Amino acid sequence: MPLVVWSGGADSTLLLHRVARQSYGDDNWPVRVISVDHSNITNSKAQIKARKKILKVFHGMNYYLEPSTMTIKDTSRWGGGGYGFAQAPIWIYAAVTYAKKKDDVYMGYITTDGVWPYWHTIETAFQSMAKILDKDLTLHVPLKNVEKVEVIERLQKISKEYKLPKKKRLESLVLFCCKGKAGLQKGCTCDSCNRHREALLILKHRKKRNKKGKK
Ligand SMILES: [Zn+2]
Repeated sequence: MPLVVWSGGADSTLLLHRVARQSYGDDNWPVRVISVDHSNITNSKAQIKARKKILKVFHGMNYYLEPSTMTIKDTSRWGGGGYGFAQAPIWIYAAVTYAKKKDDVYMGYITTDGVWPYWHTIETAFQSMAKILDKDLTLHVPLKNVEKVEVIERLQKISKEYKLPKKKRLESLVLFCCKGKAGLQKGCTCDSCNRHREALLILKHRKKRNKKGKK
């Protein structure tokens, strides 16, 4: 069965939609979804709120999802405030422990994510943990060649396809800003907002160019 690791950000929301669409139609085959609430995951609490809103939209699209949130309390002296344990191992830990014996685990990493130099280590950790728990898991990262521009473009396309009203558009509901607010924040110069803004500019430019090309 598919198990999607989902933060509520743009990349993993696109991934969730993709897997849900592929699996849709079989009531015996819900897409299981695991999210994590941990002090080292930025905006953990705000992400929970964002996910609720996105799930409502997915529900309206008739996707059969089975979401769950794993709360991990870090009481170590490094715990809290984004120090210590990096995010990737937290996701891996949650995915492997939550997975059923033979799940296909999906993670939403994209081209520009910082995990690729360590991917071998992450995969090895994933498989070693699975082995200890006597599980036969396959790890999928189908967006690994996808750029941020494409992520936003595809989210916009999905919203258009389902004729979602402005407030329910996936690209506005996803949470990526470090300030913990969904969608692009005006004037915010955090890393995620900057990358998002850059992608939107490229999209705008492409649209303009395509229009010119058609004339
Ligand atoms: Zn921001």
